[in-house]
Amino acid sequence: MKELTHFIAGRHVNGTSGRFGDVFDPSTGEVQARVPLASKSEMRKAVEAALEAFPAWSSVNPQRRARVMFNFKTLVEKNMDELAHMLSSEHGKVLADSRGDVQRGLEVIEFACGIPHLQKGEYTEGAGPGIDIYSMRQPLGVVAGITPFNFPAMIPMWMFGVAIACGNCFINKPSEKDPSVPLRLAELFLEAGGPPGVLQVVNGDKEAVDAILDDPDIQAVSFVGSSAIAQYVYSRGTANGKRVQAMGGAKNHAIIMPDADLDQVTNELIGAGYGSAGERCMAISVAVPVTDKIGDALVERLKPRVESLRVGLATDPDADYGPMVTKEHRAKVMSYIDQGVKEGAELVVDGRGFRMQGYDNGFYLGGSLFDRVTPEMTTYKDEIFGPVLQIARAHDFDSAMALPSRHQYGNGVAIFTRDGDAAREFAAKVNVGMVGINIPIPVPLAYHTFGGWKRSAFGDVNQHGTEGVRFWTRIKTITQRWPKGGVREKADFNIPTMK
Ligand code: NAD
Repeated sequence: MKELTHFIAGRHVNGTSGRFGDVFDPSTGEVQARVPLASKSEMRKAVEAALEAFPAWSSVNPQRRARVMFNFKTLVEKNMDELAHMLSSEHGKVLADSRGDVQRGLEVIEFACGIPHLQKGEYTEGAGPGIDIYSMRQPLGVVAGITPFNFPAMIPMWMFGVAIACGNCFINKPSEKDPSVPLRLAELFLEAGGPPGVLQVVNGDKEAVDAILDDPDIQAVSFVGSSAIAQYVYSRGTANGKRVQAMGGAKNHAIIMPDADLDQVTNELIGAGYGSAGERCMAISVAVPVTDKIGDALVERLKPRVESLRVGLATDPDADYGPMVTKEHRAKVMSYIDQGVKEGAELVVDGRGFRMQGYDNGFYLGGSLFDRVTPEMTTYKDEIFGPVLQIARAHDFDSAMALPSRHQYGNGVAIFTRDGDAAREFAAKVNVGMVGINIPIPVPLAYHTFGGWKRSAFGDVNQHGTEGVRFWTRIKTITQRWPKGGVREKADFNIPTMK
């Protein structure tokens, strides 16, 4: 059985805690590797290596740091196929989607290559007599990122791309379900010229997370995962004086106005609802047709498409989506389908019976479609995170917009319409952090910023873009005077003003 490692101080290091987690191949259901689960003292070793690396890395001029990011980007591109296969074999998403996972992360690395420009401060000449004021954005020191299973390439790169380019030393605690890609990225970073200790990977579970949250030398923590853990990480991390951003779960609605092109909308909902087996924080999980007439027409179009979804091996180029990440997660999604039926929603397509011939132990689940879902239902309130699309009908624009606006989550939302005025009003008023207009998965590009509202994100600063640079740096402001002539004659006891 393959045994994975940590990546500390530029080397693969075996786990010493004696605790391991199983890494599955979801396509076959077999355990393919064991991942070590770090103890507090193993995490501390990485913190010490990062502390040692920080003075030199933070003093490297920004252009040289950017060159390491350039080299890293080239190496990731060269190794794209290997990374995509590795990712698919542990996560279960299909290869084309794994390539997209790596590519979206690389786009943040490309953004981070511009760090000399992004990290520049401000300057005011002559703010007072002979006085100038300037500011600089300095790195924080040793920082950490705790990442989820569903984007094992993109989300670590969201974080470490910007953090490291800004001069920090970054420790990644990836999901124990698919840790190989983050480990491989750390190897490639070293090969790209990144010094040992600047990007490290410590594998583990709650114990490793708590070690991060309690370590006095870790200055900032970025987290992405489910909301309950996000809230926990945010509370414990900030109570310990750290800067924390913690992104959580989601329930993304798509509003379908009566004037929308329903054939186009059907395509968008199928891709955004069932792609990656619905295991995306920006997946569309609730469709909201406005008026019953549109609801009926939409169900009529969606039903045959959901019934004919191609579920297959992660390596099958013709599969629409692959298996779910674990057996436990599949069981959880199936229990939500049971619950939806009990709650009185209409199960139009039932994916629970799906069997993948020859792969009985794989974690496959067919696509399901629910109609007449209402806001009181638990299955509406909770995030399901599987290949299940729910339809919640609305009678007009205002009641449709109220659904995502009142929902506990506020990650993404979409509206499909030909009416610019309605779209504009929706974008301005909806109580959700990221909005798509005729775009089902409005994941902003690297130079913009990613983050939801309400229980989808704890903390004030988003991922990547200029917000990311703000998160991973702190500002220092210098007021300087170089007086001409000699010493001033008397002390001034009042606060200096510009009156
Ligand atoms: P998860 O919350 O189970 O795990 C995330 C991380 O937290 C992992 O590294 C895991 O090891 C760690 N963790 C798990 N249990 C813990 C505990 N009790 N104490 C401390 N740490 C713990 O999430 P997941 O299942 O890996 O990922 C799916 C979730 O992530 C979904 O809810 C999805 O919506 C969310 N997500 C959100 C975004 C976003 O940007 N908002 C992006 C991707 C995924």
